[in-house]
Amino acid sequence: MSGKILVVDDVATNRLILQAKLSSAYFDVLLAESGEQALAITLTELPDLILLDVMMPDMDGYEVCRILKSRAATAHIPVIMVTSHNSTEEKIRGLDAGADDFLSKPINDITLFARVRNLMRVKMMFDELKLRETTSQELGLSAFLVDHSFNKDEHGCVLVAANNPAQAKDWAACIRSRLPVSTIIANSEDDATSIARENIPDVFIVCQNLANGGDGLRLVSKLRTNLDTRQSAIILVVEDGKMETATKGLDLGASDYIHAPFDPNEMVARLRSQMRRKKYSDRLRSNVRDGLKMAVIDPLTGLYNRRYATQHMQRIIEQSGKSGLPYAVIMMDLDRFKSVNDTHGHEAGDNVLKEFARRLQENLRGIDLVARLGGEEFLVVLPDTGPAEVEFAAERLRNAIDQTEFDIGGGKHIPVTVSIGVAFGGPEDKIPSVLIQQADIALYESKTAGRNRVSYFANAA
Ligand code: GH3
Ligand code: MG
Ligand code: MG
Repeated sequence: MSGKILVVDDVATNRLILQAKLSSAYFDVLLAESGEQALAITLTELPDLILLDVMMPDMDGYEVCRILKSRAATAHIPVIMVTSHNSTEEKIRGLDAGADDFLSKPINDITLFARVRNLMRVKMMFDELKLRETTSQELGLSAFLVDHSFNKDEHGCVLVAANNPAQAKDWAACIRSRLPVSTIIANSEDDATSIARENIPDVFIVCQNLANGGDGLRLVSKLRTNLDTRQSAIILVVEDGKMETATKGLDLGASDYIHAPFDPNEMVARLRSQMRRKKYSDRLRSNVRDGLKMAVIDPLTGLYNRRYATQHMQRIIEQSGKSGLPYAVIMMDLDRFKSVNDTHGHEAGDNVLKEFARRLQENLRGIDLVARLGGEEFLVVLPDTGPAEVEFAAERLRNAIDQTEFDIGGGKHIPVTVSIGVAFGGPEDKIPSVLIQQADIALYESKTAGRNRVSYFANAA
C-alpha cells in the first residue's frame, strides 16, 4: 500500500523519526513544523493521511484538526493525533475535534502501521466516491450535490453485540442517554448478521468475545464482506492490553477499537466520530447516485433521455436476438407544437410536454421503454411486440393524446395531436440508430399526410 502522509510536529527529531519509519514502508512523507504550515500544505498537496502532534506552540493539534475537518477540500483526510499523554480526556477532546485516531509517544511500529493501513483504506473509499462525484459534476449536475463538510449529524442506529445480554443492555442504555441514536441488541454472531439484513445499522459495537462462544473478529470480517453492512462503521471492544487483537481487528476492517472496561465518555466520543464519518460517506454516495440518475433522466418529464434510451434499446435488441421475438420502435413528434409556445407561452408548452409524457406512460407497459429524445420528440420501444400488436398500441397512444384536451394552466384547455412513425425490429436488426431512422422516415410520412396519424416504415419505404 502506498500513499502520501503528512507529519506535523514542532520538534525536528520527532518529525525525522516518523519520516524514517514511514519512508522505510514506502510511503511518501511530507513534513510540517507548525499548524499553519500544515494547513497550507494540505491545500496544495492533499495528503492521504495526517499524523498530527497535539502539543505545538501557536496553534495546537486540536485547533488544526478542527480547521481541517471544516474545510470541504480536506474534511475527508484521516487525522491521527500524536500525544505524549494517553489520557481519556485528551482522546475525547481529539475525537470532538474530528480526529480519527490516536497514537502515544513513543510510537509503537505495529500499532502505527495497523492504523495507517486501516485509515488509508477509508481514504481510498472516500477518494473513489469523490472521483465518481466529480464525474457527476462534469456532467453539469453540481446543483444536485450537497454539502461536504463533516457536519454534526449524529442521528442513526447502533447495533450492540456484547459479551452477555446484561452488558449489551448496559452499553445500549448508556449510548442512548448521551447520543440521539436508536440501539439494537444482538445476542450472538448470527443474531447480528441476521438483524443487519433487515435494518442496517450505521455503527456496530462488537465485543471481542461474544455471547455463546461467538468470535468478535469473525463477526467483523463477516460484516465487512457482506454487501449490506460493508459501509457501516465497526467499533471493536477488546480486553485491556490485547493490542494484537486490536491490530488484527483493524486489519480485518474494524473502523476503530476501544479497550474494555471503557470510560463511557470515550465510547460516546468514538461513536460520535464514527457516526459522522458514516454520514459523510452516505452523503457522498447519495450524491453519486442522484448524479447518475440525473445523467439519464430528462428533468422536465421524468422520462429517460436519449443517452439512456439508445443504451437500453441495444439491450432490447440483444434480448430479441436471443428470444427470437420481434419488437417495435415508435417515434412521436407533437404537431404544430411551436404554435402552442407562440400562442400560450413557453410554460404552457412545458405543461403540455409533461402531460404528454404522463399519458404515454399511462398507456404503456412497465417493460416498454419511453424516452424523450429532445424537444417535442419522443421514442417508445416495445419488446416482444409484433406488427398487429404495435398497430393497436400506436393507435391507442394517438387516441390518448387526441381525445382529451390538455390542461395548460390558468383554467385553459387546448387540443393537442401527435404524429407517429413505426418501425419493426426482429432478431436480425442490430443498430438502434438505424431503427430510429426508419421510424423517423415513417413519422415524416405521417406529417406530410396531414399529421395526427400513424405510419409504418414498411409502407413508407
Ligand atoms: P410539426 O408539426 O411539423 O412538428 O411542427 P412543430 O411546430 O411541432 O415543429 P417545430 O420543430 O417547428 O417546433 C418545435 C417547437 O418545440 C419549437 C420549440 O420552441 C419547442 N420546444 C422544444 N423543446 C421545448 C421545451 O422543452 N419546452 C417548450 N415549451 N417548448 C419546446
Ligand atoms: Mg413537432
Ligand atoms: Mg419538431
